[in-house]
Amino acid sequence: MAKINRIRTFAMALIFIGIFIMYIAIFVFSGSPILMSIAMIIGFLSVMSSTLVYLWIGMKSTKTVRVQCPNCEKHTKILGRVDACMHCNEPLTLDKELEGKELDARYNRKNFQS
Ligand SMILES: [Zn+2]
Repeated sequence: MAKINRIRTFAMALIFIGIFIMYIAIFVFSGSPILMSIAMIIGFLSVMSSTLVYLWIGMKSTKTVRVQCPNCEKHTKILGRVDACMHCNEPLTLDKELEGKELDARYNRKNFQS
């Protein structure tokens, strides 16, 4: 899966988990103010961190490179040295040295020795 999509899915999940925890806080822990406030804080932090992840994606998106996928010929974005096409999951790379090699998330590390 393309990295940006994966991060977005993660941010979405955080929002739902946060809302779910707050829901539990209100309806399950309503008898205990301490448990309720703890759960509310955890839920709130979860929603907040998802907002931060969204902001982070926004910043990352400015660094992506638009390319045309050789497989499905649609336009997609590459984040880092190696990424997957957003439409067909075709592995894509910007690095000529890695072309034809099996693509691996390890290649995204700055000091990776190939
Ligand atoms: Zn594609």
